[in-house]
Parts: sequence; C-alpha cells; structure tokens
Amino acid sequence: MSKYLDIPFPKVENPFDGHIHMHRWREEGTGRLFIHGLEEYRQVCGLKYIALASLPSGNPIPVPRDVSNNIMCAFYKLANENTFAYGGFIYPSYPANEDEMRDMSLTIQLDELKEIGFDGIKMLEGKPNLYAKVGKPLDSDFFDSALAKMEEDGTYVLMHAIDPASFWTDANEDNIKRGWYYGDESKYPSYKELYRQVDSLLEKHPKLNLCLAHFFFCSEDPERLENMFAKYPNLCIDITPGGEMYHGFDKRQEYYKDFFVKYADRIIFGTDMDFTPHLESGIWLCDRVYRYLATDETISSFDDRMLKGICLPSDTLQKIFSSNLTGKLGTSPKPINKDALRRYIAKYRHLITDKELDKYIDELSEEYLK
Ligand SMILES: [Zn+2]
Repeated sequence: MSKYLDIPFPKVENPFDGHIHMHRWREEGTGRLFIHGLEEYRQVCGLKYIALASLPSGNPIPVPRDVSNNIMCAFYKLANENTFAYGGFIYPSYPANEDEMRDMSLTIQLDELKEIGFDGIKMLEGKPNLYAKVGKPLDSDFFDSALAKMEEDGTYVLMHAIDPASFWTDANEDNIKRGWYYGDESKYPSYKELYRQVDSLLEKHPKLNLCLAHFFFCSEDPERLENMFAKYPNLCIDITPGGEMYHGFDKRQEYYKDFFVKYADRIIFGTDMDFTPHLESGIWLCDRVYRYLATDETISSFDDRMLKGICLPSDTLQKIFSSNLTGKLGTSPKPINKDALRRYIAKYRHLITDKELDKYIDELSEEYLK
C-alpha cells in the first residue's frame, strides 16, 4: 500500500466513492464469488462508503450485461454494509420496443428498483454506444414519465451522457475494439446533438436530482456547466476520470481552483473503478484524484503527462469527497426489501445470459433471502 496514499484521505471525514462498477462476480477457475469483492478496495483506500452503479444494459464487453447486474448489486448491498447502489433499466431486446416492454416500462422498472432498496438510478443510455442500441433520444417521450417521476420524488440519477470528443474523431484500435468510436453518423448521434438532448431533458425536468458523470465531458468548456448550474438547482457533476478531464483542468488552473470552491456543492467524487480485475488501478485512481484536488504535488497523470495538484481548502474537499453525496443519499444505504428482490428475480431471471451466474443467484437467494 505504501506506493499509494500514506494516510488515506487525511483531510476528509467519511470519504465516499460514488461511482464504481462490478463487472465480474466470480473468479475464473475457482468459481469463488466476489460478494465482498470491493471490501479490500474500500478498506485500503480508507473509504467509509462506496456506491455501485449497476450496468445491466449495453455492449457485452467484457462480460454479458443483463439484469443480473441489478440483482447482484442488490445482493452486494445485502452482504456489505456502507454500500449504496444505483439500479439500471433493462431492455429485453434492442432497439427498445414499448409494446414488448408493456409490463416492464421504465416507470414500472423504476418502482421495482426503488422497492428493492436501490439508492438511486444509473443511466448509461446517453453513452453513444448504448444510445444507438436503445434507439431513443434522451429527451423523447420514451424516457419522459420515468424522468418526471424521478424529478417528483427526488430520486438521485447518475447519468453518463456523451463521451470524450475524441471518440467521434479518433478511430484508434482501442476505441474501435471497445465500441467507442462514433464517427459513423448513420449509427451514432453527434457530440452536439447529445448536448442538445441533455439540455432539452433538463428544460423539461429542471428539478431532477441529476449527476452528470465524468464532468459531462466539458472540462474544456466549463462555462457550459456554469450556465447549467445557474438554471438547475439540483444538478451535480462527478469528477470520475476520464483522464482527459484532468488535462482540461490543468490548462486553466486558476480558473478551476475558483470553480471547485464556487461550485463545491455540485461536485461529487468517484473513480469508475470496476472490480474485478481492476483493484490496483482503482486504488491508484483514488490516490490520483485525491492528490490532484488536495495537494500541490506534481503527480503522474492518467497518461504520460504530469499534473500539478490544485490544493483545495478542506471544507471544499469534505463536500466533494463525502458530504455532497451523503447529503443526497443519507449516511446509511436503504435496506434491501427481500420480498421485492425475490419477486424481481422471479420476473426477470429469464433475461440472464450467464447460466453459471444464474446458478449463483439461486445460491445467494438461499443464503440471503431466507
Ligand atoms: Zn462508470
């Protein structure tokens, strides 16, 4: 551990990583379940709380994405204290088909996820590759009732919308392999169009308790966020890397020092750590983001370049690393309603594609849902 934080988060009480994923639930070979897989990460980093963002929809890279991610995140919450989780919407087929989804409309799914005890909703539907699969504009009627409901009851929504601008222009091998190259206009919305849709969505739902992930990919154009913060009282952004974001910050150091202090109530820490196999890199990410914001050290960045820390005041750090999110979600995760989880599993388990995982869900049900 010594190569990372000497004293984890020395200036923050009860640090909270608000943006983590679980992609694999068992060790290849041994079959050992990772139902406590993030506890080591949480403890090594000195985190009091973590929040799992379920990703039940999208491209099957690196593992199948289906309803099992919601179910497993609920079990994870049951098995580990201080773990929050955001559920995600599922689609029985792509593009989304309202007729086929009659008994699992987004509002029905929202009620189900909330009844189970999810602490919020993760929406990946604005990431261009999932957007292209679902085939529904973010500001369309398809999402409207669920968004209206969440606006009404204050549900916390962590939304990934857009992606780094370079994903539209840079057809490198890695982007192509991961399905993150969006140069084909016949398949993907433009960068500008996605910004327009999020603006339009917020115009319709101005009080939505929305957190736009990854700084809304506009660290080169933060004035956009300033305008949005002025209009939307509950809007937040998270500073979960994408390393490109930090280079945007670095270009305007003085501006960003003021920005972070001025908008300290609107900024939420997360790493996007995904377990497994990324325990080490999750710890590194945690260390990186903390050092950048809390110290004036020159640190190695997310690529070969260096970054100079901006050394924010303690009260600003406290908000970003903990109290903004506990203010929204509380200081204890919602309890899991076992009956509701059992019903959810019964209703949706036919959509699970990984038969081994399906079997584990039976074992977990035996152990945790009695
Ligand atoms: Zn993420």
